[in-house]
Amino acid sequence: MFIGHFGVGFGAKAAAPRASLGVLFLAAQFVDLLWPALLLMDLEHVKVAPGVTRVTPLDFVDYPISHSLLAVVVWSALFAGVYHIIAKYRAGAWVCGLAVLSHWVLDLVVHRPDLPLAPGGAARLGLGLWNSLPATLAVELAVFGLGVYFYRRTTKAVDRTGSIALWGLVAFLLLVFASNLLGPPPPSETAIAWVGQAQWLLVLWAFWVDRHRVVVERPEA
Ligand SMILES: [Zn+2]
Repeated sequence: MFIGHFGVGFGAKAAAPRASLGVLFLAAQFVDLLWPALLLMDLEHVKVAPGVTRVTPLDFVDYPISHSLLAVVVWSALFAGVYHIIAKYRAGAWVCGLAVLSHWVLDLVVHRPDLPLAPGGAARLGLGLWNSLPATLAVELAVFGLGVYFYRRTTKAVDRTGSIALWGLVAFLLLVFASNLLGPPPPSETAIAWVGQAQWLLVLWAFWVDRHRVVVERPEA
């Protein structure tokens, strides 16, 4: 899944208004932010295999440290614990922990059976929504749209940057999503890793958006 994870990040703001959108993006996309570094360190592996699913040309050969259920549970607990120590915001820590975990659940829906339960285990899960383009579009866009709706309802811009940066981010994510779907497959595994690393910029962008918006006291419907 791609923009669905960012949808979770946006929507989580309604449950943890004091947490920055940047932190919520970091949580929802955490294991996909670890993944490129693990690829570059040769600890996890991916192959470009056009046709492996209808939607993505990527064959996730092995990614137990970033994407096994057991590992994601550990990352989720660590993320929540560290956030709680830094921010001293219990609700925010819970929401961040759940956002990290949500990544695996959403990936479970879209991936073909390639998600391990535990490092070293043989079981692989995935419901394979990526085999259908219309179903993928419907689910990704619904989760993303709902998330943006809740973020917008929970916050308001304090200046022009607060709305331009937000809508710029939304438009940019949609554009990346569209180009993933319509563009050619990535030229190499290394290219995948470096494009993956570029996602850190989206986290920074989200921090920037959030600094120019405030939480509204009582959101209108
Ligand atoms: Zn993932």
